[in-house]
Amino acid sequence: MEDFRIGQGYDVHALAPQLPLWLGGIRIDSPVGCIAHSDGDVAIHALCDALLGALALGDIGHHFPDNSDEFKGIDSKILLARVLGLVRERGWQPVNVDITIALQRPKLAPHIAGMRACLAGILGISEDRVSVKATTTEKLGFVGRGEGCEVWAVALLGK
Ligand code: MG
Repeated sequence: MEDFRIGQGYDVHALAPQLPLWLGGIRIDSPVGCIAHSDGDVAIHALCDALLGALALGDIGHHFPDNSDEFKGIDSKILLARVLGLVRERGWQPVNVDITIALQRPKLAPHIAGMRACLAGILGISEDRVSVKATTTEKLGFVGRGEGCEVWAVALLGK
């Protein structure tokens, strides 16, 4: 590879009881889930924005409008695969990605390996190039009060 681009992404979703919680492409057993037009996988949404940002291709809302019936309830893994298609058709490929999820509960540690495996499979890179980290916010702010989930992602692309 001789050329590289880096992008960052950020997303937040509000949490509500009795919704499914999808993060990093996997379903996580939880009393709360994300309120969303899609499946609410806020980690994948931030990752999509990082990939798009690396190539200055706008953001996920531009490509997949949340007022479109086409994307209602959609599996965010499909959105990620489509974003990856935009990346690849321009001759780029992911080198590595790094994701930080802020969520007060449930604890995500038991699910990190599953998220990394899932995302690596979609991105077509090895798991050692897919970092997923999780933190609480020590009960501070909207994340700490259990009102939302916040995610930051960075992606490096090469060609
Ligand atoms: Mg989102």
